[in-house]
Parts: sequence; structure tokens; C-alpha cells
Amino acid sequence: MSDNFSLMIHGGSGALAHIRREGSEADFMESLHRILEGGREVLAKNGSALDAVEYCAIALENDRLYNAGHGSVLNEYGEVEMDAAIMDGQDLAAGAVAGITNIKNPIGLARRVLAKSEHVMLIGKGAMEFAKLWDVEVMTDDYFVVDARIRQWREAQKAGGMMLDHEDAEPQHKFGTIGAVARDAQGHLAAATSTGGIVNKRWGRVGDSPIVGAGVFADNTTCAVSATGYGEQFQRTVLCKMISDFIYFKGMDAGEAATAGIEYLVEKVQGLGGVIVIDRHGRCATGHSTSGMIYGLIERGGESICRLS
Ligand code: ASP
Repeated sequence: MSDNFSLMIHGGSGALAHIRREGSEADFMESLHRILEGGREVLAKNGSALDAVEYCAIALENDRLYNAGHGSVLNEYGEVEMDAAIMDGQDLAAGAVAGITNIKNPIGLARRVLAKSEHVMLIGKGAMEFAKLWDVEVMTDDYFVVDARIRQWREAQKAGGMMLDHEDAEPQHKFGTIGAVARDAQGHLAAATSTGGIVNKRWGRVGDSPIVGAGVFADNTTCAVSATGYGEQFQRTVLCKMISDFIYFKGMDAGEAATAGIEYLVEKVQGLGGVIVIDRHGRCATGHSTSGMIYGLIERGGESICRLS
């Protein structure tokens, strides 16, 4: 058994006051703790960082509290289209899927792309065909299209716009995109991000989550990062790579790099969102320009700490 590892997960960022008002804070805390402890088990048994982030991302995707997998938000036609990516900091191997439907665990499919294809990203129908080759689990539409998401989508349609999952006017339907980052006992880093995207998004829209460097990044020499927020702003600033570059070129630690990254996001594009970061020494950090963020962490084998900040 080892305790020389770190793990972080997030469940999105945004205005979270409603969660406390409704008393659903306890549900989030229970879910974050349970998933972190499951991830701890993987890492304590000398599991790889890649296995730990996949394990946590799948557990988050299976929980309808979050905007990924089961609880994904709906696009302009009231359908679920999901994006996900996973990255191995050892060799910068990455796998991503975008615009996929009906796949129970998009991150599992992204891991297959990483391990079993010569490509980094597969989209739409081609990704679905690839999923069939590997017997990836598929669910019917009713598994994904849950009542809360239909209400949230109707509100967005009425208002005539898109919105971040946590941002809507109607408080009870704000849940979040998910991500996980880890450093295993061998010092390897990995990152994963998975999402249903932005409520009422245009059909075919792809956000930052499956884009290496924008919504996900891992490099053993710097850090592992997963982002949440307005994907277009993270794409334009290539924010996760930017955070890694702050460490690579400026020698920052995880906390400094997360802060510098969010400052850059705000300064350049008035960006809205947040990040979780673990650096190569296992230091954990978050940063967000939204009023809140849902996350949990285990730093260097310590206690699990969960926050709706
Ligand atoms: N970043 C995601 C996207 O733009 C949304 C989110 O993080 O809630 O697709």
C-alpha cells in the first residue's frame, strides 16, 4: 500500500448558492467523498494515475448530479451530445471523443481511443462505430434525458440563449461538468474531463473538454489539469496548456500556476470557469473566476477534503 499520491476531482464551477438553499449540498459532499475514497483505493494499491482518473470520471459520469454521462445537459434539439478526453502525462498519450450520443461512459470510450487507436480524437458516427468494435456500453435516450435537464433546457430555450450548467436563472437545475487529475506513487500524472457541454448549445458544437491543452492536459514534467467553464474561452486561451507552461517556463507551483491561469483567462477573454491542478510534486490547487466551484482533493495521501466554494 502506498500513500505517496494525490488526487483531485471537480463537479463544475458556477453560482452555487442554490445548492445550499435547497439542501443538496449534502448530496454533492457525499458523492465527492465517496468517489475520492474510491480513487484513493486505486492509487493506494499502486494503481496508475490514468486508472485513477478514469475510475473517478466514470463514477462522476454515473451520478446524475453532474453534467456528464447520465446527467448531461441538452443541446438545441433537446438531445444529449457528450465530449470527453483523457491524457497520460508519462508520454502525452491522449484519447478524446466529441459529439457522441448514448455512450454510458464517454471517458471509457476516450480511454479506448488512447489505448486502441492510432488517433487522438474520434467524433460523432465514427466514434460510435469505434465504440461498437470494443463493446462499449450504450444506453437508450431515456437514461440520459432526465426531468431536471428537460426543465433547464426549456428555460434556456425560452430565454433564447446558451448557458453554463450552473448559471441558469432557475436555481434547482445547476449541476456540473466533471474532471479528475492524479499523481500516482510512481510520480506519473494523468487528467480526464467529461461533459454534456453547455445547455441549449448548437447541434455539433464541441467545447473545450475533449481538446488537449484547452480543457485537459497532463505532462509528468509539469502538472495535470482539468477545466470547467465556457468552453469557447478555454479553447481560445488554450488554458490547461497555459497553466502547464507557467510551471514549465516560470517554475511556478500548482497554486501559483492555477492563479496565473485564471488571471490570464479573465484578462484575455473575460473568461468564466475553473480548474483543478496537481503538479509533479503532488501539490493540489484550484482556481476559478466563477463565484463557486465543486471539488474534492486528497493531497499526498492525506484526508479527503471536499468543498463547494
Ligand atoms: N466546459 C464545458 C463546455 O464548454 C462546460 C462546463 O464546464 O460546464 O462544454
